Amino acid sequence: MVDLKFCPYCRGRLVARLLFDKHRLVCTQCGRIVHQNHRVAVSTIAFTTTGHMVLVRRAIEPGYGRWVIPGGYSEVGEKLDKAAMRETLEEVEIKPISDRLVLSGLYSYPSTDLILVVYAIQVERSVLTWGPECLEARWFSFRDIPWSSLVFDSTKDALHDWLAANGSCWQSGLEGRAVDTERQWPRRQAGEHPSTVQPQ
Ligand SMILES: [Zn+2]
Repeated sequence: MVDLKFCPYCRGRLVARLLFDKHRLVCTQCGRIVHQNHRVAVSTIAFTTTGHMVLVRRAIEPGYGRWVIPGGYSEVGEKLDKAAMRETLEEVEIKPISDRLVLSGLYSYPSTDLILVVYAIQVERSVLTWGPECLEARWFSFRDIPWSSLVFDSTKDALHDWLAANGSCWQSGLEGRAVDTERQWPRRQAGEHPSTVQPQ
């Protein structure tokens, strides 16, 4: 949380006053309430159809040496999905199969002023190179995500949620195979009894 002392509108001194059941910063000069807003971070789950995703190991604090999905802070004047891709590419070179980022989840916690916006994008399983904010970047199978070495609750929650929604194909033994939903769950023919439709 930023420790504000002066009003951003008139530079008057700020004091904390109990207003609407909460201590808020009020300018002693112009009387405005100065709201302390969230910061917005953006991250990307870059996954392949073979059941792998990219994690990076942080070379900066907080969380030095621990794994996280690539990302960083969005900037004013920037679309969030563009910010997610920009920040991701600053950390690790990925090769997206399309330019379509899909919103995966939003994460916020009372202990921090950060909101994390997580996108997912399908990528090629390419050779990884990484930037100075990372010690390394690596492909992880969805089954081998290093849960105990992840940093930030938001990372864990984002990966849990994404895998719960998207990872079942790979968790059921299809890892390493491209997933063809038509072949696994054939379309039912007219008049066909449901019990005759079996996954192949
Ligand atoms: Zn003021």
